[in-house]
Amino acid sequence: MSELRDLYQEVIFEHARHPRNFHALGNPSHVARGHNHLCGDQLTVYLHVAGDVIEDVSFEGAGCAISTASASLMTEALKGKRLDQAGKLFDSFHHMLTHGGAATESNSAAETDTDQDAALGKLEVMAGVHEFPARVKCATLAWHTLQAALKNRVEPVSTE
Ligand code: ZN
Repeated sequence: MSELRDLYQEVIFEHARHPRNFHALGNPSHVARGHNHLCGDQLTVYLHVAGDVIEDVSFEGAGCAISTASASLMTEALKGKRLDQAGKLFDSFHHMLTHGGAATESNSAAETDTDQDAALGKLEVMAGVHEFPARVKCATLAWHTLQAALKNRVEPVSTE
């Protein structure tokens, strides 16, 4: 288990050092800024949504390794997803961080399409954040900002 944890940490730090999709989008359909006052993390999430599909998603900003890695992993996970799938993924991710396990693990209907949508995949590397409650907001900042962007909110969001 500790080897798995080391691997997860390595993935997190690799994403923090070399975040994916770390740039502004030229012609976004949705934008929002997020700020985690507890840690000082700030980021902007850009989306290009066509119909109900996230065609492109990116972010910019400055934050700790956890917030940067989480945003990077989020953009990788969401590109090409439908909005309803993105919502389920966020629910699943949030559940993992606040309850310490993927929501689908205890679900007997894990083979349905619905639960496939909620499968965390690579996002599971963030599971260890559950043990550090003060860092949960770092890990969820990008997701809260994404939700704000999808509502077309233009004012900065706070995780407080
Ligand atoms: Zn942070």
